[in-house]
Amino acid sequence: MRRMTHSFIRFHQIFVFCLGIFGVAGAGAGESSSARYVFIISYDQGNPDLLQRTELPEYHRMAREGARTWEAYTIVPSITLPSHVSMLTGVGIQKHQVTWNRHDPKRGFVKAPTIFSLAKERGLKTAMIVGKEKFRCLEIPGTVDWFVCSKDRSDAKSVAECFAEEFGTRKPNLVFLHFADPDRAGHSYGVASPQKIQALKDCDEALKIIREAVAAAGALEESVFLLTADHGSHDERKEDGTLAGTHGSAETADVQIPWVAWGKGVKKNFTISAPVVIYDTAATALWVLNVPLPEGFWGRPVISAFE
Ligand SMILES: [Zn+2]
Ligand SMILES: [Zn+2]
Repeated sequence: MRRMTHSFIRFHQIFVFCLGIFGVAGAGAGESSSARYVFIISYDQGNPDLLQRTELPEYHRMAREGARTWEAYTIVPSITLPSHVSMLTGVGIQKHQVTWNRHDPKRGFVKAPTIFSLAKERGLKTAMIVGKEKFRCLEIPGTVDWFVCSKDRSDAKSVAECFAEEFGTRKPNLVFLHFADPDRAGHSYGVASPQKIQALKDCDEALKIIREAVAAAGALEESVFLLTADHGSHDERKEDGTLAGTHGSAETADVQIPWVAWGKGVKKNFTISAPVVIYDTAATALWVLNVPLPEGFWGRPVISAFE
């Protein structure tokens, strides 16, 4: 009896061990869509409901033609830097420990590996073009080949133009692009203000510039776009009676984010029903590029979105 129990435990251990190996290997290589380029585009304060009901031809064409969920989730606290660090490291705030939300060089770099450092280890080229200085904590030396954060050109259209100017010559495989405009308008004028809606429309122009630059470089057929956000927001009334958008809580309006995949190997016109959390963006980007997920990664590739 004792022997039987022992051998059962051994078998069980080996089974679980094999699951581990094949699970990780499968996520890292096996069934990947194997595109050469991944573009993660984050709409800062991109509320899924507002995105859905705003006329955004580029965005909605990708959402319609590709795979999407309007009920993905970010972390708590639902604030810009911790959320983006989760998006780009594949782990929660408890692990990456970027608890601050402003540019603070004294705090150094994120302590967890980033998707950029992991992609670099596999010989891929990486880029970050962002509209907020605080992202510099993700630029671990030697891991981002092309980093741009211009104070004078931090709007979505400038980010897109900066990308378009050099994508064709640099051809980075893994690109993170950040649109700050909706967050700025949301905080100043309210979650669904005309200014916020205009900011989303400006982002749509920027998205078009990016897509056209990728097409002009002959890379569109080899690309996957992931369109998402760091958090949503809710309105608060200011002392003068006007509305201002804010976020940071665990309320649905703050934590629900959109998640759209479009491009090579992505299912056509598909609604993702599997749960998607912000760190799955990191996992999906690496999986598409055939970069193995390291141990301790929280994110899982959104495999159901791919053929
Ligand atoms: Zn934000
Ligand atoms: Zn904000």
